[in-house]
Amino acid sequence: MSEQPILEVDGIEVVYDDAILAVRGVSLTVPEGGVVALLGANGAGKTTTLKAISNLLASEGGRVRRGVVRWRGEDTARLGPVDLVERGLVQVLEGRRVFPQLTVEDNLLTGGYLRRPSRRRLADDLERVYGWFPRLKTKRATRAGLTSGGEQQMVAIGRALMTRPSLVLLDEPSMGLAPIIVQEIFEIIRKLHEDEGVSFLLAEQNANLALRYADRAYVLENGGVAASGGAKEILGDLEALYLGGD
Ligand code: ATP
Repeated sequence: MSEQPILEVDGIEVVYDDAILAVRGVSLTVPEGGVVALLGANGAGKTTTLKAISNLLASEGGRVRRGVVRWRGEDTARLGPVDLVERGLVQVLEGRRVFPQLTVEDNLLTGGYLRRPSRRRLADDLERVYGWFPRLKTKRATRAGLTSGGEQQMVAIGRALMTRPSLVLLDEPSMGLAPIIVQEIFEIIRKLHEDEGVSFLLAEQNANLALRYADRAYVLENGGVAASGGAKEILGDLEALYLGGD
């Protein structure tokens, strides 16, 4: 038998306001150390699926009404978002939500405090994040609101890394950024995966991009899984679809 996946989503259905069915029976698996892409057009249900996994739906009137999410085999239904962060699961929300008035460094530190670490540990974690994002070190004293869009995305990812996660859920990391910056960010994701064994679940509209970095992918359509498989296989399917080939 293969080892237990780090994350298992088993047939979840999500409703908003007990009326709108946004996710219909989605199942997916992230293996330990895997990079998995969650693809689909605007409104397909990617964000809702990620928030269902990290238990962030309640504040938006959403709830998982069927199915199970398991973290290393444990049903997460009764866990809050902070419990999940403590276990190693963290989400980077769509749209680079930094605290604009705080410096880059203070933004990073807000992530570190979630685990109530010692001062020494916090300093170590900060240096680790600066190692991955040298650009952030040069801007450490700058207010985050004054940095570029790409740097803000790095701050958002860096803040999540301050929690020493084993799995990062990333929602549309490429959105609104120049291709060169997107590539820089994805190369850092690759490095984190290769050097540190961090797993990723990447929600992306840009399938070509995500499939270059992922091992596996799931394609969502109208809240359901329309296709899934190895990244190469899905890339081939999408090319055939767009080029009208078979
Ligand atoms: P995007 O790229 O725009 O984030 P997405 O694939 O992440 O798209 P979701 O944001 O998960 O898709 O949206 C899935 C469906 O759920 C859509 O029909 C959307 O209108 C609906 N929806 C999302 N959030 C809410 C909410 N807070 N209340 C009601 N309906 C919502």
